Order: sequence, then structure tokens, then C-alpha cells
Amino acid sequence: MPIPRPTYLDCAATTAVDTRVADLVLRLFTEEFGNAGSRTHVFGLEAHRAVGEARERIAKALACSTDEVVFTSGATESDNLAILGLSAWGIETGRRHVVTTAIEHKAVLEPLAYLASQGFEVTHVQPDRQGYVTASDVLAAVRPDTMLVSVMHANNETGALQPITAIADGLSDGGPFLHVDAAQTFGRKTLDLHHRRIDLVSLSAHKVFGPKGVGALIARRRGGSRPRLRPLQFGGGQERGLRPGTQPVPLIAGFGLAAELAERECQNRAAICQRIRNEALAALATLQPIIHGDERRGVLPNILSVALPGLDSEAVMVALKGVAAISNGSACTSSSYEPSHVLAAMELPDDVIAGTVRMSWSHHTPPVDWPGITRILDDLRL
Ligand code: PLP
Repeated sequence: MPIPRPTYLDCAATTAVDTRVADLVLRLFTEEFGNAGSRTHVFGLEAHRAVGEARERIAKALACSTDEVVFTSGATESDNLAILGLSAWGIETGRRHVVTTAIEHKAVLEPLAYLASQGFEVTHVQPDRQGYVTASDVLAAVRPDTMLVSVMHANNETGALQPITAIADGLSDGGPFLHVDAAQTFGRKTLDLHHRRIDLVSLSAHKVFGPKGVGALIARRRGGSRPRLRPLQFGGGQERGLRPGTQPVPLIAGFGLAAELAERECQNRAAICQRIRNEALAALATLQPIIHGDERRGVLPNILSVALPGLDSEAVMVALKGVAAISNGSACTSSSYEPSHVLAAMELPDDVIAGTVRMSWSHHTPPVDWPGITRILDDLRL
């Protein structure tokens, strides 16, 4: 007898691959499996065409040109390429300062910590207690020697949407590069990413029903010139020399299709996610939850970050184990017992940090028994 599985409520960690995407990926793994760099036969040409089509799909979604799309292994690599890839230029031009926020993903914070160990100065703008930084705080931290401003679009733990448009509007034409980690928002809030003053955008396929192990860095031209990126790896000319190595054609093609589907179905998906969020909030209200993020200021409809007074997140996850698969932080930190650096930066009390769980869903999520979940949690409080 198969063990019944709980409802998957951890879509901010990863999503299932859309079956339409999976069909395409499988075909490219098993039938049209050529190397996109092979120019001497039809297998290579098919693969080359598949990569080209995916690049067009991503470029269309981001309103950029195809030569501004660099395929990578995911948002982590894109973040590293944006940050570390600019550093040689920063050193050459005496721009050794970076502005970021204290709530970024580790894929941004850790390469920046490395740069700090190499003599760069990094300013971490602090969020307020709801998990938002302000554009004025970010812009006020910019100096003549600032190489880069790196601010995420939506926080992966709270879903809080950061003011990237106001930050982009406030940066001068000759000012620092602006990088946005859009791992959680690509395919959901993509229009915000069209802003021409956003120079670098990190994307991940597996958050939008595409395969794991693929993503992209968008590196836009400003005033005719490209961000001065240097590769982090060497050994081939792929991706304009910025990301050498044989392209993972099935993954890249799957990412392209997942992106196109996300753009096409964006409104419908968002409406379904908002309905699930409303149902969750209505049912959990009796537990007097503390909700992180603020709908009036912008929060992703597919993420609910919530602390339940008197309940510890570990106890909540154990109590709900058979019913709902949830987390108490980002997937990369939930295996360690460190408290979330995001919630700590929000200066929340220790018991609120210890009590916070993240539930995240998608348009594929089957009906959730929110009253049942609420009853289990209510019993746990006694
Ligand atoms: N940045 C953010 C905001 C994320 O949520 C994630 C995924 O958890 C990443 C970066 C890393 O993405 P990937 O798994 O594609 O490397």
C-alpha cells in the first residue's frame, strides 16, 4: 500500500515540472539529443535550434534581446556571475563598494562576503519588521565608488516584494550596475523586470515549473555597452564566453517553454494562488497568526509566512507531517538549525522567529483542508 502523501505546500523551494515541459525535455533527452555545438549533422542543428528557440522565449519574456540572455545552472550561478563577474571591473575602476540588503538569498550574500574578504566594502540595507527595505535607504547608501546595487525582487521566505522599480528609477545613468535576483518572481511579476535600468537579472527554471539545474542571467546593455562581466569558468566559447561548457539542451529548452507558459498563464495562476492565500488566511485567523509581509505593500500570492503564537515551527512541521509538506525557511537553510537570517534582520522577537513557518503553493495545488490544518494546530497549542 503506498503511503498517502501530504499536500505539497513548499512551492517556493521548488515546483513540479509542468507535464508539457516534461514532454519536451524527455524528447530532447532521448530523441533529439545532439550537442548544440555540433555543426556537422542534423542532431547538432536540432539542438542548436532548440537552444535558440529557448533563448528567444526568455528574451521575449524579459523584453530584452537574445544576446542579453546567458544560460546558467540556476539562480545561484547567475547571482555569482553577476557579482563576482563584475569584480575585476570594479577593481580596475576603483569601484569597490556594493549595496545590498540583509534579506538576500545566500546565493547573493555569500559571494558578497567573499568580495568583502578581498577588500570590497559591502553595505547591507536593513528591512523593517514587515520584511521590506525602502528605495530611499538603498539609494542613500550608493556612493561614487559603488560598483553594484543588488536587491532581490521578492524575498523567498516572506514573499515580500521589494521596491525594485523605485530603486531603478532613482539610479542615475552613469551610476552603479543594478542586479535583481528574480528567482521567485520570474513568470509571476515579470513586467517589473522590463525596466531598462535593471542591468542584471537572475532567473531560475525550477521555481516556475521548469527543470532543476538551469536558469539564466540577463545582462542588458545600457547606453550601448554591456555590463563588464568576466567569466567565472574557462574552457569553451558558449554563452558568449561567459558560461563555457556543453549546453544542457533539454533543460534549456524546458526552461524556455516553462517561461513562455508562465507568461501566458500568469494572471490565471496568480488568481488561483490568491484564492488559496485568502482561504488560508481566513482559516488560520482564529489562531491569531502573525503574518510577515503586507498585502498593501506587495507580497507574492503563492507564499504565506506566518508565526502562530505559542507554537514552535519544528512542532508545527511535525504535527502537519502527514497532512501538509511545509518549511520553516528557505530550502538551503532548513536543513540546518540556524535561525533564518531574514527574520533575524527584520528584528522579530526570538519566539516569533522560532515559530515562523512558510507555506507556499501553486495553481497545481489540490484543494487544501485549511480548517483541518487549523484544528491540528489549535490542538497543538493546548
Ligand atoms: N535566489 C532566491 C531568491 C531563491 O529563492 C533561490 C532558490 O531557492 C535561489 C536564489 C537559488 O536558485 P537556484 O536553485 O536556481 O540556484
